[in-house]
Amino acid sequence: MNARAHQIKVREVISETADAVSLVFDIPEDLGRRFAYSPGQFLTLRVPSEHTGSVARCYSLSSSPHCDDRPAVTVKRTAGGYASNWLCDNIAAGSVLTVLEPAGNFVPRGWNRDLLLCAAGSGITPIMSILKSALTLGRSKVVVLYANRDRQSIIFARQLQQLVQRYPRRLIVQHWLESERGLPEARAIAGWARPYRNYEVYLCGPAGFALAIRQGLAQLRIPERAIRQEEYRSLTENPFEQPIPVVAAASAATAVSARLPGDTPTVQVDIDGDTHALPWPRGKKLLDVLLDHGIDAPYVCRESACGTCVCRVARGRTRMLMNEALIDEELAMGLTLACQTLPESDDLHITFDQ
Ligand SMILES: Cc1cc2nc3c(=O)[nH]c(=O)nc-3n(C[C@H](O)[C@H](O)[C@H](O)COP(=O)(O)OP(=O)(O)OC[C@H]3O[C@@H](n4cnc5c(N)ncnc54)[C@H](O)[C@@H]3O)c2cc1C
Repeated sequence: MNARAHQIKVREVISETADAVSLVFDIPEDLGRRFAYSPGQFLTLRVPSEHTGSVARCYSLSSSPHCDDRPAVTVKRTAGGYASNWLCDNIAAGSVLTVLEPAGNFVPRGWNRDLLLCAAGSGITPIMSILKSALTLGRSKVVVLYANRDRQSIIFARQLQQLVQRYPRRLIVQHWLESERGLPEARAIAGWARPYRNYEVYLCGPAGFALAIRQGLAQLRIPERAIRQEEYRSLTENPFEQPIPVVAAASAATAVSARLPGDTPTVQVDIDGDTHALPWPRGKKLLDVLLDHGIDAPYVCRESACGTCVCRVARGRTRMLMNEALIDEELAMGLTLACQTLPESDDLHITFDQ
């Protein structure tokens, strides 16, 4: 089992709408540090399956570490979906789930910038965490655009209303109901968002919604780099079923010294306070190298989307096959995604403890 997976008890199940529930977790005291999280991050839950043993699904934390006592995720039923329906049907107070430690980089780096938060449906969950945190920690303005099918499907309707009453000069919440206005489209978004064009944008919702928002904001010449997006998808990998290490013996922490013989690049990897010296075959992704050597590297999706395996190239040249998680600023800092990174030079140094 993945060393970052833990048995966590559900303390409470809150019915948010007819098809969405929040699961509030009780984190044991000894895991408090491991389950510390930032607004916008997610948890990965193991959902039992008769066919495959289990499936893994990510759910954004809807709670804020700065104003809520306990972490909570909010799950909305997906029509025809397996895990979301299983969770909504089977989890009750007292249930125990296997949960990976918090991950993800859909996280504001400060609280001084004005924020434009755009969500549709269950996309409100990380947005809610960011919203509550920004109002609590910062003094900036926050505008929320929240699209839903109809009034009954608005998750957190009451909490949003209460926040507007509490922060009338800092918070605007604009609901967009498909039942009244049809689907959001770019021109209308551009017209509405004009006063907020200097705000930092956080976006989470289905593809059609995200496209309309991006096209609308493009009409206002808001640069792509000002927009952070969280994309929901079901994992195809299962991080709970970790591959068996092929070179377990090499996992002992070693000081880095000589180059390994032959043409294979070598890498020094600093992770969890240990240093490992490893051969890094060209054409092999860094995460696969680490897991092969029994090193407990963090990962969830292995598809470049979630940002869990982010690390820094301290020495040497690498390239990524795909990158859906890191923005230009982060790339300029030398950050890379272990699940997509190949070596380009012979002598490399990677740190996970940035
Ligand atoms: C970072 C992140 C954060 C997330 N946060 C949240 C959150 O806060 N709240 C939330 O509700 N969700 C969230 N999600 C989405 C969540 O992880 C799941 O993807 C979602 O719950 C659907 O999972 P499921 O198992 O119910 O559906 P799945 O079984 O994965 O099905 C998804 C869709 O595919 C269709 N489908 C399934 N199998 C097939 C097949 N064989 N052929 C054709 N179609 C098929 C289904 O009908 C359904 O429409 C998040 C995802 C990510 C990556």
